[in-house]
Amino acid sequence: MQITTEGIVLKQRKIANNRRMIVIFTRQYGKISAGTSINERNRSKSALALRPFTYAEYDLFRGREAYSINSAAVKKSYYSIGENLDKFMSASVFIDYLDKILQDEEAMPGLFNLAIDYMESLERTKTDPDTLLYAFIVKSLRMLGVMPELSCCVNCGRGLETFGSDGHGGAPGKIKLFSVSSGGIICEECANREKTDGSALIYKPSFDIIDVFRFFLSKPLNSFEKVILKQGVSEMIRQILAEYTRCYLGSDALGITNEMEVRNGY
Ligand SMILES: [Zn+2]
Repeated sequence: MQITTEGIVLKQRKIANNRRMIVIFTRQYGKISAGTSINERNRSKSALALRPFTYAEYDLFRGREAYSINSAAVKKSYYSIGENLDKFMSASVFIDYLDKILQDEEAMPGLFNLAIDYMESLERTKTDPDTLLYAFIVKSLRMLGVMPELSCCVNCGRGLETFGSDGHGGAPGKIKLFSVSSGGIICEECANREKTDGSALIYKPSFDIIDVFRFFLSKPLNSFEKVILKQGVSEMIRQILAEYTRCYLGSDALGITNEMEVRNGY
């Protein structure tokens, strides 16, 4: 069956007979793997559409067991992202993240649109590109149905307004504990109980983590093109998102080890 779909290339590898297997995040069919004999070295319209950071339209043949690419045409190339090291690093984490969290052939058109918005904004931004990445990840958590609980204690349901009022939870309404292991904001009492278990992953950010998450959720992605987080905030958010996605999505895409590999491979 012949099908046509828009997509973004996530990765590729060589297979037998001079062919390559291209993993594409498509709008209509989700993540698919498609074989092709289109040579990446030639300058044809189809070859250009198989490059990384390219948004293209693909003509595919859907066989019983596999897809193959007949031809492709670039809709927009974000190739300039690869020319800036910081943007490249951020975009590599983004691509890796998508590859790991997407299930084969499960369409996620909302996430696809968000991914295109991300590449548009990343291409335009002139500041620290990581804020865009964090905003993308937090928005994706909501779309994937694994958003952390932010409106009350994730364990006992105690309201946020009572946090800190017993004199042990920091300034009322300000400092909040975030438990990756439980999946959201946690009160002091539940945190103490959880800590006795030894495997708890609890963070105590020096800023209001709820405000940061809500900030990311409330505005369109392009409003983060000019936002620079303080270094301490940025590092803490990265760490929390890395642990959180590892816990709930099985994705190591934001891990430090992974980033080192990307850096070495550049
Ligand atoms: Zn609690």
